Amino acid sequence: MRNEPCWCGSGRKQKKCHKDVLKGSAFANLEQFYNEMGEKVSVNIGCLPCQKGCAQCCYDHFSITSTEWYYIMSKLYEKYSDSMVEEIIDRGYQLWVELQEKDPKTAELLQKDLTSKKPIERSDTAVHQSVFKTLIDSMAGSTHLNHHPCMFLDKETQSCTIYDIRPTICRKFGVSYTDVGEERRLEGCDIILEGAEKYMDEMVDLTEFDEADRGLQQIYLSKYDTIVQDRTYPFFYFCKIHKRDPKLTKLKILELQRHSLEDVFNFKVSRLKPMGL
Ligand code: SF4
Ligand code: SF4
Ligand SMILES: [Zn+2]
Repeated sequence: MRNEPCWCGSGRKQKKCHKDVLKGSAFANLEQFYNEMGEKVSVNIGCLPCQKGCAQCCYDHFSITSTEWYYIMSKLYEKYSDSMVEEIIDRGYQLWVELQEKDPKTAELLQKDLTSKKPIERSDTAVHQSVFKTLIDSMAGSTHLNHHPCMFLDKETQSCTIYDIRPTICRKFGVSYTDVGEERRLEGCDIILEGAEKYMDEMVDLTEFDEADRGLQQIYLSKYDTIVQDRTYPFFYFCKIHKRDPKLTKLKILELQRHSLEDVFNFKVSRLKPMGL
């Protein structure tokens, strides 16, 4: 298998390309999704005022899935020494400490672990969403901007230090629109929204990727015949979780390089009954 062409479509042999990431694994599926969206995202970025050094959007609040978090971590471990990665995690952890001091209510809500404990089909969606909205509102305060930028923003150049491996939300923010009834709405920063109509005329439709995006975030638990949501947190909260045990992070990365999200999760639930089920 390692002599076969790599699943990513580079044309190179798997052993010379994604040698550690197997076809059908959670990371391979995520990266394929990024690749498929890539060309259209680039077209839309070309229509927008986004450019290096413009980073208001990186001061906003957002969450990513745990799969995306581990994917980013795997790439950081490839690029940097273990101690450098631990320093990055520590930087995120400090933001968590800051949040606990400045905004204990939000910190408490985050610790309630709002995702993945309840099956999507059986959970009370309205309650879940209202708690999540409270969380976002509480984090957003009055300005809707965070008191610190994303931990991966280079403050000097105002550019993203993980651009090639940035999560889905950063790829789609501002570059995709949604149809609400007859109306087409662009979701983006204030700069984009000012010229929304003009940009939308030139942009290509990205809604075809929405279903795949949702699919990547949902996990089928065969043992319970139900679907749960992959955990979603802000970057710094993942740092809080992973500061405790960097070895566990590496183990998780190995699992996600070799197995689908379902396999990883079902393997886990067969040993460990998740709460709320
Ligand atoms: S989304 Fe807005 S703030 Fe972010 S790069 Fe584009 S124009 Fe700048
Ligand atoms: S990951 Fe990069 S693009 Fe996304 S918010 Fe952080 S710095 Fe900005
Ligand atoms: Zn490859």
